[in-house]
Amino acid sequence: MFCSDISAPFLFFFSDSVPSTLLYYSHLPTAIIALFLGFFVFVKNPKLLSARLLFAIAIAFTLWSLGSLTVWVHIDSGIISFFWSMFGLLFSLISVFSLYFFLVFLNKGKDISLTKKGVLGIILLPVVLLTFTPYNIGLFDIALCEAVENSLFTNYYYFSGLIVFLWILVTAIYRYYKTQNKSERRQILLLTGGIEFFLMSFFLSSYIAALIDNYELEQYGLFGMTFFMGVLAYMIVKFKAFDIKLIGAQALVVSLILLIGSQFFFVRNTTNQILTGITLALAAGFGWMLIRSVKQEVKRKEELQIISDRLAAANERLKELDNAKSEFISIASHQLRTPLTAIKGYLSLILEGSYGRVEPAVQDVLNKVYVVQSRLTQLVEDLLSVSRIESGRIQYNYEPTQVEPLVAELIDMFRITAKDKKLSLDMKLPKHSLPKLMLDGNKIKEVVSNLIDNGLKYTSQGGVTVTVEEGAYVARIIVADTGIGIRPEDHDRLFQKFTRSKETSKIVASGAGLGLYVGKNFIEAHGGKIWSESEGQGKGSRFIIELPYENSNVKKEEIATFAASYKK
Ligand code: ADP
Repeated sequence: MFCSDISAPFLFFFSDSVPSTLLYYSHLPTAIIALFLGFFVFVKNPKLLSARLLFAIAIAFTLWSLGSLTVWVHIDSGIISFFWSMFGLLFSLISVFSLYFFLVFLNKGKDISLTKKGVLGIILLPVVLLTFTPYNIGLFDIALCEAVENSLFTNYYYFSGLIVFLWILVTAIYRYYKTQNKSERRQILLLTGGIEFFLMSFFLSSYIAALIDNYELEQYGLFGMTFFMGVLAYMIVKFKAFDIKLIGAQALVVSLILLIGSQFFFVRNTTNQILTGITLALAAGFGWMLIRSVKQEVKRKEELQIISDRLAAANERLKELDNAKSEFISIASHQLRTPLTAIKGYLSLILEGSYGRVEPAVQDVLNKVYVVQSRLTQLVEDLLSVSRIESGRIQYNYEPTQVEPLVAELIDMFRITAKDKKLSLDMKLPKHSLPKLMLDGNKIKEVVSNLIDNGLKYTSQGGVTVTVEEGAYVARIIVADTGIGIRPEDHDRLFQKFTRSKETSKIVASGAGLGLYVGKNFIEAHGGKIWSESEGQGKGSRFIIELPYENSNVKKEEIATFAASYKK
């Protein structure tokens, strides 16, 4: 039986005043997009429950869409009433699948409990049972070409839609506040927004359209699905939802192509169709190029990431080894220190005659032992300093300190050594004494002592001069000698750990190449600088230390107390 007063051609008849272009545009592209994404996610991960459910939503929605379109354009009352009778079932399936999907997605892919499944089944049951009975479609109004639905039946499935909507909302709010994870929260917000918007626009537009008898509104409600799919695509790109790796560029290009392609559903004249076709081809071409280049870049980035992860792991291992080494040096040095102090003590006592007179020949030997012992003590001290520097355990006791007496004390200490080597040892002090600086006196003494020691060690004729002078807001200590000098390329190297110049090892066997390294660390901790100068090999060397008047490492309170005491 055909609807009575119809003279319009097959497929282009529309019972209400909904423009045909809108009808096609709202039904087909939305269904295609849903089906496309649902299928894509399903194929990528067919075992994932949430992927299967999404595909089920997409299929139910597509069936609904096709059914609706058929009802709009068909004129055979039998066909119309068959499709019409399916709407309730599809509606309910879409909403129940959406809820099921939402719950599984929030459960990170795990299935929901049997009880919940039972509740979902109960919601569906009346619709399933009544679909093919007169309780669904009672009559067919041949004059209006419309099926007359039983209002109890329609109200039931709209009501079940409302239940689903509220269930999702409550679960979302509960889950949102339960988790502290930011990314999880964002995903909950996005998914809830997408799914609720879709359900609301789909159900409400259909419900209101029926209520006010304006079916144009219903068409716009369908775009809720496109929005939902857009949200899902975004979640795939951003959060790797469904365990899918998708590049933003891919998602963008595909959606562009789908959007441009869907224009075919409302563009009617040939020129426009050709233009749309060209735009589509161009978008596809450029899109393909874009995806290819982005993919390459992503691949390169991933390779880099792997390398950098490996490097980080290797670095971690090296750090561990380095720590173990520092620890070992620290322990070994501590163990060496105690017997050395004892040896030094007894040697001094013997040399001073505390154990009776010492034969000159023995005294000579003991003096040599004393010198060797001092070197060893210095080496142990240097090793301890290095291990402290490297483990960050070094402590500085900053105090207002006058530089000149500190230097003078060292000169006194080295006078005998210089005399033994027949070298001069001079000191030049500034006319006006320098201001007191915030220094760790012992550390500075250690550095300058090493410089004087080196000067005497690496000089065979002439001697060493230590100068204290004032620079621009800095105190300068210069240790100059007339010794073997330094080659230009060696200057920076010498301040590194365990580094000595080639010649040095030949001249003076002892020395581990640690003194300057330790010294540089100490001076830099004071905010100062240390460097070496030399005219070249055999032309003597100068080591210059600059200590700033204001040391940035010193705490403000310390400076304040210092300033107060200085005024007094
Ligand atoms: P060490 O003197 O124990 O070898 P340092 O770290 O104090 O260790 O010095 C490192 C190297 O710098 C020395 O081995 C030597 O090659 C060079 N050096 C240091 N001071 C002088 C100097 N006054 N003249 C020439 N070379 C020097």
